[in-house]
Amino acid sequence: MNILYPFAKRFIAGEDLPTAMKSIQSLQTSGYLSTVDILGENTHRRDQAQQAQKSYLDLLNQVDKESLPMDLSLKVTQMGLDIDWELCKKNISEILNAASGHTVRFDIEGSDYTKQTINLCIELHETYRNLGQALQAYLYRTGGDVERLLDQGISIRLCKGAYNESATNAWTSMEDIRANFLTLAKIILKEGFLPAIATHDEYILTEILEFVKKENISPKSFYFEMLYGVRRDIHKALLDKGYQVRIYVPYGKSWLPYTLRRLTEKKGNILFVMRHLFRETFGLSKIN
Ligand SMILES: Cc1cc2nc3c(=O)[nH]c(=O)nc-3n(C[C@H](O)[C@H](O)[C@H](O)COP(=O)(O)OP(=O)(O)OC[C@H]3O[C@@H](n4cnc5c(N)ncnc54)[C@H](O)[C@@H]3O)c2cc1C
Repeated sequence: MNILYPFAKRFIAGEDLPTAMKSIQSLQTSGYLSTVDILGENTHRRDQAQQAQKSYLDLLNQVDKESLPMDLSLKVTQMGLDIDWELCKKNISEILNAASGHTVRFDIEGSDYTKQTINLCIELHETYRNLGQALQAYLYRTGGDVERLLDQGISIRLCKGAYNESATNAWTSMEDIRANFLTLAKIILKEGFLPAIATHDEYILTEILEFVKKENISPKSFYFEMLYGVRRDIHKALLDKGYQVRIYVPYGKSWLPYTLRRLTEKKGNILFVMRHLFRETFGLSKIN
């Protein structure tokens, strides 16, 4: 599948820590915050889960040496949720101990894991106050999850949702997803603890900018979060307007599932990949 790596490079900050550190440092120099994700999910062996945990500990060690203010994003299935709940909890607790000077947020994966992920977040948050949770606006259940997390004072990152979900548990039309996103975003902006609005959708962003002005919400009380390599024009525009912009920076060797989600969420990406592969396969390059 290495044939897709040239496309992955747009969305990831490299395959190893030294390469990723360059991107993290460069973002910081340009005024952005970052949340770093070491790629990997659905780990099925204990040694793989432990290796993934070690990668996070190595990253923390490095950023602390360089005094880089950085958040972490992690997936509970990478830490062993499919293997054993206690193993997963132990792996994550050790990361949270080492990450006391950083905010750590659980990514939210396919709906088979939603309930367990949120339960684990609430349980661990009792000890580790630096733990936050991402939520997906496309799921019907998310309004209830927002209330639960707000009650616990847990910081929420709201995104639309990137997995294939059926109409039994998720809205599937963009209109409905946007409407729920805006409803929930307004709640977390008013009531949440350091909430993050994670979208590149200009329709939603325009509404949010109007809302925060109307409600007198301080730009320092929340974050816009965007993906590395996606709509850098918007990252810059929001930063220039004085908002806090945090970039989600993924790196690592297990880049395929993440890249496929990025490639498939925009029709133009797939057409671009197809055209490129067709040209390469049939030797149609104009430069010979
Ligand atoms: C910080 C952050 C964290 C996230 N964490 C999670 C998570 O934990 N769980 C989860 O399910 N999802 C997560 N997501 C992904 C999210 O759910 C969406 O799949 C993704 O953000 C695309 O939706 P959008 O809101 O940007 O709007 P869209 O309507 O999809 O996109 C709006 C515009 O942004 C640009 N754009 C968006 N995506 C791409 C792309 N892949 N390639 C090129 N241009 C693009 C296009 O110009 C597009 O018109 C996260 C997103 C962000 C920004």
